[in-house]
Amino acid sequence: ANALVIEGLKKTYKGGVQAIKSLDLTVKQGDFFALLGPNGAGKSTTIGVISSLVQKSQGSVNVFGFDIDKQLEQAKLCIGLVPQEFNFNQFETVLQIVVNQAGYYGVTRQVALERAEQYLTQLDLWGKRNAQARQLSGGMKRRLMIARALMHRPKLLILDEPTAGVDIELRRSMWDFLKQINEQGVTIILTTHYLEEAEMLCRNIGIIDQGMLVECTTMKALLSKL
Ligand code: ADP
Ligand code: ADP
Repeated sequence: ANALVIEGLKKTYKGGVQAIKSLDLTVKQGDFFALLGPNGAGKSTTIGVISSLVQKSQGSVNVFGFDIDKQLEQAKLCIGLVPQEFNFNQFETVLQIVVNQAGYYGVTRQVALERAEQYLTQLDLWGKRNAQARQLSGGMKRRLMIARALMHRPKLLILDEPTAGVDIELRRSMWDFLKQINEQGVTIILTTHYLEEAEMLCRNIGIIDQGMLVECTTMKALLSKL
C-alpha cells in the first residue's frame, strides 16, 4: 500500500513564485523517506500541501487512499505534522499541549494521559510535564512538537527540518526515537538539508531543487554514486 501519492503537483504563490513546478512522488507504507534539497527548493511547500496548510495550484495528493480534495478529514486523521516553527501556546504546560491536541482528535482524556506519559517519557520530557512551554530549551520544544504530533497515533508522521539548530548529541537521540517509531509501523517523511541525517535514517530519498524532483532513489543507491 502507498502512504502518499502525489501526481502532477504545481504550486504558484500569490505574487508569482513557482514553488513547485511539477512534482510526482510515491511513498510506500512503512517507509522512512527523506526529502532533501537546498533552501527555497520547495520542501516546506510540498509538506504544506500534503497537510493541507498550503492550497495547491494543480495536481492531486492522496494519503493512505484518501484524496485531500474529496476526503480531507480522513486524510488529516492519518497525518501527524511537525512544522518547523514552534506553534504551541507558550503559556500552556507541556502536558496540556499534548493532551489538548489529542482532544482535538477525539481521543479520551484517559487514553490521552497514557499516551502523553509514553511519548513524553520516550522523548525525555516527562520531568518537564508541568513546565510552561516558554520555559523549555529549543531542543525540548522540538521534542514537544514531535510528541504532540503523535498523540492521535497517525499512520504518517511528517517532519519539516526536525533537527535544525539541534546539537549533535540531541540530534542522535531524536534519530533513535524516530527510528523506533518507524519500526513500530509509522511511515515517516522528513525534510532536511543535511545529507547525513537522511543517510542515518532513511531508506528512500527524493532530491528536490527549484520546485522539481531531480532524483528519487534508495539511500543505498545514492550513496554508492557519491
Ligand atoms: P524549502 O522548504 O525547500 O526551503 P519553500 O517551500 O519554503 O522551500 O519555498 C519554495 C519557494 O517558495 C521559495 O522561493 C520561497 O521563497 C517561496 N515561498 C514559500 N512560502 C511562500 C509564501 N507564503 N508566499 C510566497 N512565496 C513563498
Ligand atoms: P489552530 O488552527 O487553532 O491552531 P488546529 O486544530 O488546526 O488549531 O491545530 C491545532 C494544532 O495542531 C496547531 O498548532 C497545528 O499546527 C497542529 N496541527 C495541525 N494539523 C495537524 C496534524 N495533522 N497533525 C498534528 N498537528 C497538527
